[in-house]
Amino acid sequence: MSRVTPAITAFIGLGSNLENPRAQVEQALAELAQLPDTRLTGQSPLYQSRAVGPGEQPDYINAVARIITHLEPLALLDQLQAVEQAHQRVRLERWGPRTLDLDLLLYDGQVIDHPRLQVPHPYLAQRSFVLYPLAAIDPQLVLPCGTRLAALLAQTPADGLRVIN
Ligand code: AMP
Repeated sequence: MSRVTPAITAFIGLGSNLENPRAQVEQALAELAQLPDTRLTGQSPLYQSRAVGPGEQPDYINAVARIITHLEPLALLDQLQAVEQAHQRVRLERWGPRTLDLDLLLYDGQVIDHPRLQVPHPYLAQRSFVLYPLAAIDPQLVLPCGTRLAALLAQTPADGLRVIN
């Protein structure tokens, strides 16, 4: 597997609404710290958010992690999906409840449009449970398109999102 040099900064969104979501997210943060060629350099507080999706669903626990990694984007996605798989104990429907969802939100300043991977993550700019935790780590963040995170936050209501730790 080829490495990117120098290492780049990436942001990962974490979410869970099944099987002790808080423990799922805390465990996943610890697992991100163990990824090969990668260091965990920041993590947001944990947040509770209302589920987006079909029917009645339990609330989500969300967080965002910042890593520094030498992994290429698809290699990083493979690692994230392996962590997700290790947490999945139930079959999932799209938008349905899930034990762990890991999204690659940002990878350096890159725009990636690949069949398996879109970066910035397509929902990044609209979801309060992504924007607020991102701002907790890096309030000065600027997206690859040049939009400031602070500008997106100013137009995105918290929508019931609250810090739980
Ligand atoms: P979901 O479980 O709804 O998050 O969707 C997972 C699918 O989204 C996987 O098949 C990934 O290949 C794809 N995907 C596309 N872009 C991303 C991204 N930035 N982060 C994580 N998964 C992504």
